[in-house]
Amino acid sequence: MQRATLIQRFSNTFRGNSKLSKLLIVVTVSGGSLVAYSEATKPYQGADIGDLGDANSKRKKVVVLGTGWAATSFLKNLKDPSYDVQVISPRNYFAFTPLLPSVTSGTVEGRSIVEPIRNIIRGKNVHMHYSEAECVKIDAKNKKVYCRTNLSNEEKEEFAVDYDYLVVGVGARVNTFNIPGVVENTYFLKEVEDAQRIRRAVIDCFEKASLPNLSDEEKQRMLHFVIVGGGPTGVEFAAQLHDFVSDEVVRLYPKAKDFVKITLVEATDHVLNMFDKRITAFAEEKFKRDGIDVKTGSMVVKVSDSEISTKDAKRGEVTSTPYGMVVWSTGIGIRPVIMDFMREIGQGNRRVLATDEWLRVEGCDNVYAIGDTATINRRKVMEDIAAIFRKADKDSSGTLTVKECQEVLADVCERYPQMELYLKSKQMRSLVDLVKEGKGGDVKEPVEVDIEEFKSALSKVDTQMKNLPATAQVASQQGVYLANCFNRMEECVKNPEGPIRFRGEGRHRFHPFRYKHFGQFAPLGGEQTAAQLPGDWVSIGYGTQWLWYSVYASKQVSWRTRALVVSDWMRRFIFGRDSSQL
Ligand code: FAD
Ligand code: MG
Repeated sequence: MQRATLIQRFSNTFRGNSKLSKLLIVVTVSGGSLVAYSEATKPYQGADIGDLGDANSKRKKVVVLGTGWAATSFLKNLKDPSYDVQVISPRNYFAFTPLLPSVTSGTVEGRSIVEPIRNIIRGKNVHMHYSEAECVKIDAKNKKVYCRTNLSNEEKEEFAVDYDYLVVGVGARVNTFNIPGVVENTYFLKEVEDAQRIRRAVIDCFEKASLPNLSDEEKQRMLHFVIVGGGPTGVEFAAQLHDFVSDEVVRLYPKAKDFVKITLVEATDHVLNMFDKRITAFAEEKFKRDGIDVKTGSMVVKVSDSEISTKDAKRGEVTSTPYGMVVWSTGIGIRPVIMDFMREIGQGNRRVLATDEWLRVEGCDNVYAIGDTATINRRKVMEDIAAIFRKADKDSSGTLTVKECQEVLADVCERYPQMELYLKSKQMRSLVDLVKEGKGGDVKEPVEVDIEEFKSALSKVDTQMKNLPATAQVASQQGVYLANCFNRMEECVKNPEGPIRFRGEGRHRFHPFRYKHFGQFAPLGGEQTAAQLPGDWVSIGYGTQWLWYSVYASKQVSWRTRALVVSDWMRRFIFGRDSSQL
């Protein structure tokens, strides 16, 4: 057993002293009530809730699909009252997904991390209405979306909505890679209901394993928890489960604890392989110490109702192991409605819905896609190299001077962000340095380059192109960006603010979307977290856990959820996790 940390010792003091606990509760509750009161009394400024839009309105109709990270940040930031917004989503709330693993172990309650979408849109001066329905078809030709509700009356089950602009933020679904038995026998961790289901199932395993008349072998099977996927979600869930076992199971199910086994299965050679190597090594080492069996280089090939079969990547050997519960967390796939839409707009051969750098879906007008549902199909410098050269060559001399190179650099870097990354990676500041390097440093002044020299100097720039990760951070920044474009639509038609159009005339209306990375956390359990911050700055340990608490408290979508989450953390700290099977 690991040495008790300061916070764990503190927590034990509170659990053992009811007077201290009471004092802490009074302070927390009174603070939380003040905050919640100020939120609840926010004046209502927008359209009537439930108002389904005015058919004769001159306002442009914006249809927003989804109430996740991307769609919600779009809605929160849309300020121009000249739009009529219809939000369509089967889920009438926003969920703070980074805390889903905490819900699985009862550290945080499901309700504490959700905010009703009607609360989010009610304080706005833009006409917004919400309909609880799922979009089943996007008809881009006729600018319509077809939706299905779950009303029992069949005639009313489907309806169509016209749009002038469509914002698609339907997220993604879990990817099972068509491995047999995954859908039927494993638990996904994507939605709040999933996390609550996992919590109940974990406790169910402990209750069942504590029944009399069970053999040790049966107990062992029941308490074998397998997590498939060594990404941040799988790792965090494994850590939460281990904390639950070491904090609660030892107290509540003392006889069961010796039978518990946690296995983390990962197909590649390391867990958390998108993180810095120091974090990966720390996580693997910590899990080893905690007794979590990390099986890397192992691919799941089948899941039956009692056994999970894995194939060793190197030896090709297949082994089957009995399990009590499997949690599947291996990545994301496209939703069926988006697959149909892609076929309709000529993107059928792509793996993901593609947008341009302004988040406009390629192949149709006035449709935008944000968040996990799409990726940005960045334009390569080499595709446009001749056009860039022509635009830069202002005097049409057939060569570029230093001045001509410098004048075009800012626009090239904005239009093709890989250019800036490439220059940075080479520690260069201008196109001229790149050209000089291409000429082997043997350059006569004044420097002039022709198209062939220009091409060869820029030939490796596109190697710096990267897809953005499917994270809440990207989704919410895209929502903010798109809302700002919508807010300034008219202004920017008159005064375009974007970079030069290299293949056309004038400027682009808006600056392209730029992602700003603020770092990423990997909670590892036992009040320790790893963080990779911008500039590849790595921080690991107990202090970083406090950073995690403060960042996640500050990122909550409302003061109400902030108060609820903080009070859940306090509750856990004082009383431990609730193990009732609700
Ligand atoms: P979502 O947030 O998934 O929202 C999609 C919305 O579309 C939902 O409201 C859904 O109901 C709705 N919808 C679905 N189908 C339809 C339809 N047919 N019609 C209309 N609406 C529809 N990211 C981080 O940056 N940091 C983290 O720590 C982190 N932790 C995570 C932990 C877990 C357990 C999970 C599952 C994800 C985590 N992520 C994290 C990733 C992050 O949650 C996603 O990248 C983010 O949710 C993507 O936002 P989105 O708006 O594209 O999709
Ligand atoms: Mg010239």
